[in-house]
Amino acid sequence: MNPPTSSADLGTPPSRQLYPNPFILAAFLLVIGLIGIGGYGVSEYQGVQTLRNDASHRLDLFAAAVDGIINRYAHIPATIQLNDEVQTLMHEPRNPKRVNAANRFLEQLNNTIGAIAIFVLNERGIVLASSNWNVPNSSFVGEDLAFRSYFLTGLAGEVGRHFAIGTTQGEPGYYVSHPIRDQGNVVGVAVIKISLNQLDKAWDLLGAPALIADGNGVVILSSVPEWRYSALAPLPLDVLVESKLNKQYNNAPISNFPVQLDQPMDANGEIVRMSIPVAANRRPNAASDMLVHGRMLQEPGWRLLIFSDLRSVRGQAFGHGALAAIATGFVLLLLLVMDQRRRIIRQKLEAKELLEEANAQLESKVARRTRALTDTNGRLRKEVAERKQAEQTLRAAQDELVQAAKLAVLGQLAAGITHELAQPLGAMRTLSGNAVEFMKRGKLDVVEQNLGIIARLADQMGRIITPLKTFARKSPAIPAATDIAHAIGSAMFLLDQRLQRAHIQVHNDCEPGTVIAWCDQNRLEQVLINLIRNAADAMNEAPQRELFIQARYNDQGQIELSIADSGCGLAEDALDRLFEPFYTTKPAGEGLGLGLAISRDIVREFGGELQADNRPGGGARFTLILPSPPKENP
Ligand code: ADP
Repeated sequence: MNPPTSSADLGTPPSRQLYPNPFILAAFLLVIGLIGIGGYGVSEYQGVQTLRNDASHRLDLFAAAVDGIINRYAHIPATIQLNDEVQTLMHEPRNPKRVNAANRFLEQLNNTIGAIAIFVLNERGIVLASSNWNVPNSSFVGEDLAFRSYFLTGLAGEVGRHFAIGTTQGEPGYYVSHPIRDQGNVVGVAVIKISLNQLDKAWDLLGAPALIADGNGVVILSSVPEWRYSALAPLPLDVLVESKLNKQYNNAPISNFPVQLDQPMDANGEIVRMSIPVAANRRPNAASDMLVHGRMLQEPGWRLLIFSDLRSVRGQAFGHGALAAIATGFVLLLLLVMDQRRRIIRQKLEAKELLEEANAQLESKVARRTRALTDTNGRLRKEVAERKQAEQTLRAAQDELVQAAKLAVLGQLAAGITHELAQPLGAMRTLSGNAVEFMKRGKLDVVEQNLGIIARLADQMGRIITPLKTFARKSPAIPAATDIAHAIGSAMFLLDQRLQRAHIQVHNDCEPGTVIAWCDQNRLEQVLINLIRNAADAMNEAPQRELFIQARYNDQGQIELSIADSGCGLAEDALDRLFEPFYTTKPAGEGLGLGLAISRDIVREFGGELQADNRPGGGARFTLILPSPPKENP
């Protein structure tokens, strides 16, 4: 019985993949990537929003500063016409005294205000008086500024405001003009030129490159000097001609802005890709994306634009995206590990259950087999007991058979023995009769002599009967060291009469004490009597009747005892069937056909063998192979 140890017996646990499916891995990577990109997008959006909000405040501040600078003194030209010196000058423009007085008034006024200049033009556009009248090479006095649009606007009775580059010094400034009226008529124009230089110090407020473009879209002020006087979008021809005519940009070359920004930038702005010159060597940086957004200033058409570099926002967004991806990866990995752990635990549990099930099966199988074995064992014991019983019965039957055969032999020997006993018995009878007669006659010596003879005869009869008694005794077969010569002698004694009557010549080579076998003497005698009787029967018709008895040790140390005769010998058919029970060639009543079968059984019981063949010189030969006594029982 083999325990079911193979996996087939135990049942293989359902194989579960311990490594994640490649599709799940790909999905995980996709999720990580999407979350990374999403994180980047959200962070960038928030970064841009923050940047925009941040810049918005500063733009508001800056715009307020610009508006403040421009508007602070915008009302000055309107008040100039109220001044007496100016009014008088309008009436007496060629009077040096009046000119001087007006110059001093304007100078004094400007000293208080701090503008670039304040000046007065007559109706033809000639500067009559100016605050800088006594600044060498800078005085506007006598200049013809009739081409300036602020003059033309003022002359038209309106307030003029615009940016322009000075024609005298080339200094840029913001001009505000106002008509000077005398009794309702415009007789001149008062102008103030406000410096915007102080804004240069305020650029830092914005913390990023910025510019102010005028109504024409030309950059008039910028934290990046290279951008100044560049057009955000190509200027229309009429604007170009107009600006040439009124020398608004004092013939400065109007270049193109690095990128075209023709949309008015609102608070949201737009993202453009451009490079910004760096302050150190004024060489453009590598191009990067800039968020451009701005404000319309109070001055009509003026725009304040700020350029916020998105690199830091994007860098930060990249960091956030990477962080989100890593965090997602970590969470997914954690989920994966937990899932794997759960699978492993489940597999272990299943394997344990299977093992327990297999164990239970095994135990029940073992119990069943044990029961079957116990039953078989019981059956075997019973069979053994029955066989023993049968053997005993068989042995008893064999013993009975042997005894029956023995008695049969005795029966056949009875005639000879009777004959043998009859002679001494007759003699005893005669002698005892004679003794009675001699006693009557008083011849006691003869009586004594006769009684002596009778006693010897009785002894002789006893000697005849004793071997018969021994032979007839029913005894179990007990092996012992047996002198072969003694056994032969006993058999010969019982058959002596028969052999003599048949005139059989016996050649017995066996000397007492020479050959000793390990067997039961009584049974051996029975076998010998059988064989010698058969030999005598076979020689009934033979002319020459000789019996040969030989005993010797063979090469294997066994005893070979042969009984041979000069009889008819064994036919081919007889050789094959001799030892079959009930095989006989003798007439009914003389033979049963059991003699040889029983003899072979007896010899085999000793551990020997009985064989038959024909003598080379004619006649049959039976050979007994017998064991020699064991060494410890010599
Ligand atoms: P039974 O003597 O009653 O016939 P056995 O078994 O002793 O039975 O012998 C069987 C037969 O074997 C005999 O009938 C005889 O034919 C044959 N046989 C036995 N011994 C001899 C012998 N020495 N020579 C020839 N034939 C023999």
